[in-house]
Amino acid sequence: MRGIAILGSTGSIGRQAIEVISLHPHRFFVTALTAHRNAALLFDQVRLLRPRMAALTGETAPPDIPDDLSFCDFRFGPRALEEVARESEGQDVLAAVVGVAGLKAVLAARQAGKRVLLANKETLVAGGEMVMDACPDGPDGPTLLPVDSEHSAIFQCLQGAGPNAYEKILLTASGGPFRTWDKERMKNATVEQALGHPTWNMGAKITVDSASMFNKALEIIEAKWLFRARPEQIRVVVHPQSIVHSAVQFRDGAVIAQMGVPDMRLPILYAMSYPERLETGVEELDLFSVGQLTFEKPDPDRFPALRMAYEALRLGGAAACVLNAANEEGCYAFLRGEIPFGRISEIVADALDRYGALPARSLQDIDRADALAREAARGLLG
Ligand code: NAD
Ligand code: MG
Repeated sequence: MRGIAILGSTGSIGRQAIEVISLHPHRFFVTALTAHRNAALLFDQVRLLRPRMAALTGETAPPDIPDDLSFCDFRFGPRALEEVARESEGQDVLAAVVGVAGLKAVLAARQAGKRVLLANKETLVAGGEMVMDACPDGPDGPTLLPVDSEHSAIFQCLQGAGPNAYEKILLTASGGPFRTWDKERMKNATVEQALGHPTWNMGAKITVDSASMFNKALEIIEAKWLFRARPEQIRVVVHPQSIVHSAVQFRDGAVIAQMGVPDMRLPILYAMSYPERLETGVEELDLFSVGQLTFEKPDPDRFPALRMAYEALRLGGAAACVLNAANEEGCYAFLRGEIPFGRISEIVADALDRYGALPARSLQDIDRADALAREAARGLLG
């Protein structure tokens, strides 16, 4: 039995994690759950899964806990995420919160010797070096396992390959809802249009990131850290059907791809059960009904996010943290209707110009770069 704490259990990844855990009650049990503000759903989940710990991280005062949940130790406030990551029982922590808010909790989980199953890519983007230093392979294998579908795919393709055997990572991207839109039209896309992802059903932030391709920008940086890739080894391939979840090209010319229907339950459960494969409930891939798989070059002119990711890798230090923080601010401002869609990438470019050279030697450095980038971004909202 593996005990798993789910940080962000009320979100898209969190809820799907509960679904696959429930398919395998003799393999996994839930040790803790956290939500930001959705107390009603969190209480339902606690009632169902009976974890010993739970937290409402967006509450600043003790919430009213229903009488029948007195078996559970409830925490609240922003520090509660780290407390749960550190103090919950069990071996694994699934980081499924959104944004850099997950960074300290991931580090706390590692300090407590837990394995991290990482959906929360912003954490690795902002704190890359610190997170990787905290996650050396242990006697039982990796201590950091990717949940993001592309990185899970790459990880699966690399099974059995020796170190340094691969030449290139082919990171696939659906292209999002604006793949075929021209630049002018995209500039003023509405929130509703940005939230209309053609192939994946996800939380709001990552859906907007997919439309701007900042999601792929974050994933380029995520791949750099997870697979120790040099920037020139990571190539983005637009693949609108989202069937090839990514591929790896090896020294001998072989290209191995991982395919399947677009469904996060597979990479979520694979991270939990690795190296074993368990039943996920995911629909079978029917290649005949898919018919065609197509591939396109990304357009850096319409999607400047990709260029900015490579620029952040070239700059090193806190540049990726700055990119992420400015994008978080821009993305949420767009979702609140405060800025047009096209403004998000301008905000990120400006923050990178100003603060792209900051260092990232410590958590304090990262906090500072994050705060400065957010301040610069907010200055451009008006
Ligand atoms: P979501 O918005 O659906 O859920 C986010 C969860 O985190 C919720 O439980 C919410 O209560 C909690 N949360 C929100 N803000 C928080 C904060 N400041 N502090 C603590 N908790 C907070 O998001 P999601 O789509 O499930 O994505 C979660 C993470 O997984 C993101 O980093 C995303 O990029 C990544 N991811 C998601 C998908 C997907 O299919 N949804 C795929 C790949 C990667
Ligand atoms: Mg992804």
